[in-house]
Amino acid sequence: MTGPSHAPSGAAPDPERAAELAANLARVEERIAAACAAAGRPREEVTLVVVTKTYPAEDVRALAALGVRQVAENRDQEAAAKAEACADLPLSWHFVGQLQTNKARHVVRYADHVHSVDRDRLVTALSAAATAAGRTLGCLVQVAFDAEAAGRGERGGVAPERVGALADAIAAADGLRMDGLMTVAPLTGRYAGQPRMAFDRLTEISSRLRETHPAATMVSAGMSQDLEDAVAAGATHVRVGTAVLGVRPRLR
Ligand SMILES: *Cc1c(COP(=O)(O)O)cnc(C)c1O
Repeated sequence: MTGPSHAPSGAAPDPERAAELAANLARVEERIAAACAAAGRPREEVTLVVVTKTYPAEDVRALAALGVRQVAENRDQEAAAKAEACADLPLSWHFVGQLQTNKARHVVRYADHVHSVDRDRLVTALSAAATAAGRTLGCLVQVAFDAEAAGRGERGGVAPERVGALADAIAAADGLRMDGLMTVAPLTGRYAGQPRMAFDRLTEISSRLRETHPAATMVSAGMSQDLEDAVAAGATHVRVGTAVLGVRPRLR
């Protein structure tokens, strides 16, 4: 994981912040455990991915010390710097943001999973980058429930009708592994304000997809506000930022 030239960067987080993160993490853990219990699912079926965007590498370091192993970012530049600063830690990085094809070469250097694959050109770019880097990248197709059949969602993603073709393209691409599906609860369209319905639809699409791609078992859904809905619907990965790290200053 770690190159010998990487000095562990980032001072130890201040104890107050570490205690805050520990308390927040414990609350999120309780929520996930309660949601699993309510759904009759074993706790081990759900993986917490902590979304550390906008927060410094010191926080990632503190989270790693608390046992977090899966972290996510949504912007390449920030992610690359943080992953490098944390290269000595036993972390797996997930990329969950909208991704430009010209960033593919960067992302394959640090990410183990990209959750936001939503077009053929990105599949081609990630495949070329992963192959050149001698890596295998886990890919999830991002499903947008607010997308028109031919278009993309407001926050990225493809319409449900196009999931199959994109999954086939990923599965056929060198250097890529077709691992599953991701969604963000839509803000517009018929599922707006109905995260549970959207997540149920995602799980249905996932079941159908697994008839042809049996290893594509990841269902990435649910954030700080709606993780219970996602666990109830069958998510295997919840992506939680705010509830662990605090409210972010507004982006963009
Ligand atoms: C920021 C982000 C999250 C986490 O959202 P919170 O509401 O802070 O938990 C999850 N998924 C994606 C794609 C994100 O960009």
